[in-house]
This record gives sequence, C-alpha cells and structure tokens, in this order.
Amino acid sequence: MTIINEKFSVHTKGNTHVIDVTRQVQNAVYRHNLQNAVVHVYVAGSTVSITNIEYEPGLLKDLPEALDKFAPVDKEYHHDETWHDGNGYAHLRASIVGNSTMVPLMDGALVLGQWQQIVLIDFDNKARTRTVYVQIVY
Ligand code: ZN
Repeated sequence: MTIINEKFSVHTKGNTHVIDVTRQVQNAVYRHNLQNAVVHVYVAGSTVSITNIEYEPGLLKDLPEALDKFAPVDKEYHHDETWHDGNGYAHLRASIVGNSTMVPLMDGALVLGQWQQIVLIDFDNKARTRTVYVQIVY
C-alpha cells in the first residue's frame, strides 16, 4: 500500500460560504497518473466542512437555509459560555455536515456524478484560510 499526501489552501468569507473545490482535488490526484485509488478529502477545523452537492445557485441558497433551521445564527449557545466567540451555530453545523468525503479513483478518473461537486463550507463567523488535505491510497 502506498499513500500520497497532497494539500491546498482555500480562502473563505466564512458565514456558511460554500466553495467548489472539485478542480483542486482533481488537480491533486491527476498529477500522479494513477489508475485506481481511494481518495480521501479532509479539512481540519471544527467550524468547517467538506461534503458533496450540486453546485448550482438554488442549492447554494437551500443548504444554508436548511442549516439555519437546524442551528440558527441568532440563537444563544452554551458554547459561548465557554469561549464567547459567537460561533456555536458554526460548530453544530460542521459536526452534522462532517469534515471529509471519500471519492474512488477508478480507471484514471474520480468517480463523481454529473452534477456532483466536492465543496468546502466555512461556517465560522469570519473570513478564514482553510487547508484541505487530499490523501491518496493505492
Ligand atoms: Zn467556537
């Protein structure tokens, strides 16, 4: 078994900013000219997520609206009693959405649906720079 570690940085605006990182993941994988592998895409941080969605304008509104019902920004959270950083909602959203996704590389191509993109969502209440780790196992 061989493991290749890649990473790239993403500048976000925070506040549930959804960013399509599919191209960056493809670049990290395809430069190695592999045929078959497990590709794990992971972001470090407790207020940020990696997931899949169709990156189109409607869903870019629907997803934040759905998460706002689950963890509204203006609610009081016990987390603020600990750190007073005002981002309890961001931690809850990140926990539910998750911080990684796995994409198989088969016959030289990442297996993604026609309308399926890999996205990073930054839930924090300020702009951040995030590091996305791409671990390729074959
Ligand atoms: Zn916090």
